[in-house]
Amino acid sequence: MRTPFMCANWKMHKTVEEAVEMAKEFKELVADVDDVEAGICAPAIDLYPLNEVLADTNVKLGSENMYYKESGAYTGELSPAMIKSVGCEYAIIGHSERREIFGEDDQLLNLKLKTAFANDIKPILCIGEKLAEREAGEHFARVKFQLEADLSGIEAEDVKDMVLAYEPLWAIGTGESATPEQAEEIIKFIRETVAKMYDEETAEAIRIQYGGSVKPWNVEEIMAQPNIDGALVGSASLEAESFSKIVKFK
Ligand code: 13P
Repeated sequence: MRTPFMCANWKMHKTVEEAVEMAKEFKELVADVDDVEAGICAPAIDLYPLNEVLADTNVKLGSENMYYKESGAYTGELSPAMIKSVGCEYAIIGHSERREIFGEDDQLLNLKLKTAFANDIKPILCIGEKLAEREAGEHFARVKFQLEADLSGIEAEDVKDMVLAYEPLWAIGTGESATPEQAEEIIKFIRETVAKMYDEETAEAIRIQYGGSVKPWNVEEIMAQPNIDGALVGSASLEAESFSKIVKFK
């Protein structure tokens, strides 16, 4: 059985002081949760203090990004060793904001995934379509293209251990979540695509999250869908109380 995984994506929010305050409150609220994995992907500057606050807790830590080189003259970037040194088990790769605002393409994301696996970092790979693509009925083709391009040359053993996040761009930050049925339909398709690219065992093992306006009041019906294994949560993850309610969706 796949353990549900609820992960915060703080994006460009929280100074060190604000991050530490939230994490201290949050870790108490979820201390008794043992059947759902909880994680926080935070801005780079917050990771070192968060690692101290979250040491010896059940809350995992992740980076929001990572470069594909091990080191070198890449001003402003983070290496896999750097994020591991501050306790990151996960790294978000290919969030739509990185793709759209910072121009990251599938070829770069494929290199980032390979570097993550080579360094024992579990990627949370984000895929999803734009509004115009959904309206044109191209959403299935879009996520299939992203999966094939981003996972090119990556072994089943690595894929089993990674996380996919289906995040339709039209549902991010809009307050308008996909319906549970819409999310289930395409996440089921994503799992079937992984089965075709790899095998049934890999498709059964990989965890697939939904992301896009997940809130304490809609998480339960989203999680009731058989193929949805968790959520990648933006704005509702910024407050300890609301994010803890999402982690405790049952
Ligand atoms: P919101 O939850 O704010 O819609 O953001 C979703 C997201 O982009 C998580 O990665």
